[in-house]
Amino acid sequence: MSIGFAQTPQSYTSTSRFSHTRHSNSAPICRKLSKAANTKPDIEKRKGKSFQDRCLINRRTKKEWKLTDFDIGQSLGRGKFGNVVLAREKDNQFICALKVLYKDQLKKANIEHQVRREIEIQYHLRHENILKLFGYFYDEKRIFLILEYAKGGELYKHLKAKKRFDEDTAAKYIVSLASALDYIHLHNVIHRDIKPENILLDGKGNLKLADFGWAVHTPLHRRTTVCGTLDYLAPEIVLGKHHDEKVDNWSLGVLTYEFIVGRPPFEADGNKATYLRIKAGELHFPSHVSSAAEDFIRCLLQRDPSRRMKLSAIYAHPFIKKSQSKDIIQQEQCPSTVIVGG
Ligand code: ATP
Ligand code: MG
Repeated sequence: MSIGFAQTPQSYTSTSRFSHTRHSNSAPICRKLSKAANTKPDIEKRKGKSFQDRCLINRRTKKEWKLTDFDIGQSLGRGKFGNVVLAREKDNQFICALKVLYKDQLKKANIEHQVRREIEIQYHLRHENILKLFGYFYDEKRIFLILEYAKGGELYKHLKAKKRFDEDTAAKYIVSLASALDYIHLHNVIHRDIKPENILLDGKGNLKLADFGWAVHTPLHRRTTVCGTLDYLAPEIVLGKHHDEKVDNWSLGVLTYEFIVGRPPFEADGNKATYLRIKAGELHFPSHVSSAAEDFIRCLLQRDPSRRMKLSAIYAHPFIKKSQSKDIIQQEQCPSTVIVGG
């Protein structure tokens, strides 16, 4: 596929600083994150400049990012508060995605602090199944997030095209997602908006967890905010109770069901009906679902968070082990080197 890029108009050069609208909520999270970065070896350490400054600077040229550094390509998707476009950095032809957010819309919805949190959290995460945020910049009207380009697009699109995944494919995606969740939980981050639309695929089909707009860094406190998308929310969130990282384990169970069945387990007409179904926690499985998959989903969809399967335990579950052993058998049967006439 050829990608058409347009030269960026020079008049788009950034003039104002995002920090003019800095929200007082951001400071404690910044501090907590830098503390986490100092104690956890696999989060990149960035010493010296403040977080906001580090994030704004192209580490190669040591200059602040600006829109004229990029050629702009096709639209990749639309979010609630802006668009995502394909972009190519002019200097070294690096392909990325630019998420463009409009400041007035963020202000109107009173979610500037949420965007700040999204930037601060995603910038610090380094994992093969988490979409990288390379930096950000802004002009008077917009904020631009420089993101890793996920060529395969939304997993949701692939699920809708296939109607449902076979259980081995579902297990493969669930292992990648569990690995990403395990990593963020280790760093005291909860995603809170796990759903197929927020899971992207790169050009090789590797899963990339994206959209940290609802994520929260919470080393000490348990949360009570109601957030995320109803179908995937754990009962403790819909009931407005305290919640912790185990809400992501619940969403992993909802996703496993949706991957295998083709629709989420508590889907109903309208939010109220969905809410009642989540509260009741009743599960119905079509006959094609294997007993291993059903048990796996039931272990994650435990209403009591303390009884919910831990992420570290999923690898030993027969649903995951079965698909991984098939992978090994396939690799043994199809060796990569074929000796002709040997
Ligand atoms: P919403 O709140 O509606 O989920 P949002 O404003 O948080 O939207 P995103 O979910 O980050 O925006 O992005 C919107 C869409 O753009 C995605 O669902 C996806 O289709 C596309 N998209 C986002 N980031 C990328 C990327 N890095 N590579 C390819 N496509 C992307
Ligand atoms: Mg999204």
